[in-house]
Amino acid sequence: NSWETEWFEWRSRMTPDKTAVVDGYSGLSWSYRQLQERTEHLAAALRQWGISKGDRVALLAPNGLCYFELLFACARMGAVLVPLNWRLSGVELGYILDDCAYRLLFYHEELEALAQSVDPGRRISLQSDSYANAGTEGSVGTGEQTVQAPEAKDPLLMIYTGGTTGKPKGVVLSHLSVYANASNTVISWGLTDRDVTVTYLPMFHTGGINALSLPVLLAGGTVVVEREFKPERAVMLLELMQCSVVLMVPTMYHLLVQTQSYREASFRHMRAFISGGAPCPLTIYDAFAAKGLPFKEGYGMTEAGPNNFYIDPADALRKRGSVGRPMICNRIRIMRENGTQAAAGEVGEIQISGQHLFEAYWNNPKATAEACREGWFCTGDLGRYDDEGFYYIVGRKKEMIITGGENVYPLEVEHLLQQHPAVAEAAVIGLPHAKWGELVTAVIALRDGSHATSEELQAYCASRIGKYKVPKKILFVETLPKTPVGKIDKNGLVSAFSGLW
Ligand code: ATP
Ligand code: MG
Repeated sequence: NSWETEWFEWRSRMTPDKTAVVDGYSGLSWSYRQLQERTEHLAAALRQWGISKGDRVALLAPNGLCYFELLFACARMGAVLVPLNWRLSGVELGYILDDCAYRLLFYHEELEALAQSVDPGRRISLQSDSYANAGTEGSVGTGEQTVQAPEAKDPLLMIYTGGTTGKPKGVVLSHLSVYANASNTVISWGLTDRDVTVTYLPMFHTGGINALSLPVLLAGGTVVVEREFKPERAVMLLELMQCSVVLMVPTMYHLLVQTQSYREASFRHMRAFISGGAPCPLTIYDAFAAKGLPFKEGYGMTEAGPNNFYIDPADALRKRGSVGRPMICNRIRIMRENGTQAAAGEVGEIQISGQHLFEAYWNNPKATAEACREGWFCTGDLGRYDDEGFYYIVGRKKEMIITGGENVYPLEVEHLLQQHPAVAEAAVIGLPHAKWGELVTAVIALRDGSHATSEELQAYCASRIGKYKVPKKILFVETLPKTPVGKIDKNGLVSAFSGLW
């Protein structure tokens, strides 16, 4: 066996009595030793249930300790964990379950109806005796079967992408990629066994499991898992648990900084509030800077395991909006359309190479071949770097608007609109238009009790950016629609408003 498949076991031997994981909902906590023991029993039980190397084991559960237990059990015996987005409908879930051809489905009691509707019988309740006993009885399935140990490049985890731009794609991550992401992150972000994080992002998504939870465990720290994000409670828990590092999507920060308890809290132990998964409004930097708290942005994606960059909080303040420099063992390049490398300041596609990259899209060789070329993953995102080597994300290629032959990057216009005092949320989209090709359109949610007209917002933009970038139309909504992982659903906006002009 290799360390990439066994690192949790090694870590458990180093710090057996430390608290590894805590369920914020029930208060249940396991030390490294306890988690490792449960993992061993569950791995044996999986074998007894007929699971062998390479089989997919699906999990349908709200955030909880079961994710770690199952992931490390799969790692031990070579199965592949497929965590499922329980916020999807039965039909959408059915698509994913068919796609991944799973052998066994674990489900949480609260999701029993959904589990029943999508699965005819190969399912095990996380509350059932067999599951509970797998964790406590030593008798399950010992050594009868010959067991083939997993290797570094074998698949360990299959995570479906956010589905922001289309149907979610199954991203196959090997033991190596999970380990490489975790160790690159530990080294680059300087995580240690004194770190404590609270996981609010969904654990069926790369943000809740790979981005920070596994790196903190590799470092020997403590991961508290929360089922849902409630801003007032979040402040309380971050303080109570003496949290030192946390990762959330911008929408969560947006809610957090508005609470009364945020204003009163000191966050004495916090080394970094990290935002990721979607572009972060610059106003959030301001809210943290006003309290002197360390805030920064990360950039990643399911396919890259997901982390790629590191920035010091002081640099993040100096270069607001930058995601920093490439982290250790990550190669990053910015490519022009013609396949040559872009110079400093020039916008091009972000491409990534390194051991943390995924193996392939599941069942989709065409998408894999399009995205992976000669060891480089073509992210479909646009970016640039400055003369000090700091990178900036410019937006998704697919979201770039071409209006009257000019390129408009929605993010630039969004950043501007978000700074208007009356604006709570802003999304800029291109809507099909006979004369302009696409029409720059802003969809705005105003702050409670604030007022602004289209003309005011257009004038605000016109005095600060080129005329062709100024939204020609502005639509007002209560709140912007979000995808199940909390990103603004631009696809939804485009289809809702297409045909308006
Ligand atoms: P799908 O691939 O199914 O359309 P998705 O791309 O949203 O969904 P994820 O892997 O969850 O799936 O998200 C990664 C993407 O999120 C990145 O490719 C990028 O577009 C966006 N993103 C991540 N971090 C940032 C950031 N700091 N700033 C801007 N965009 C970001
Ligand atoms: Mg994507």
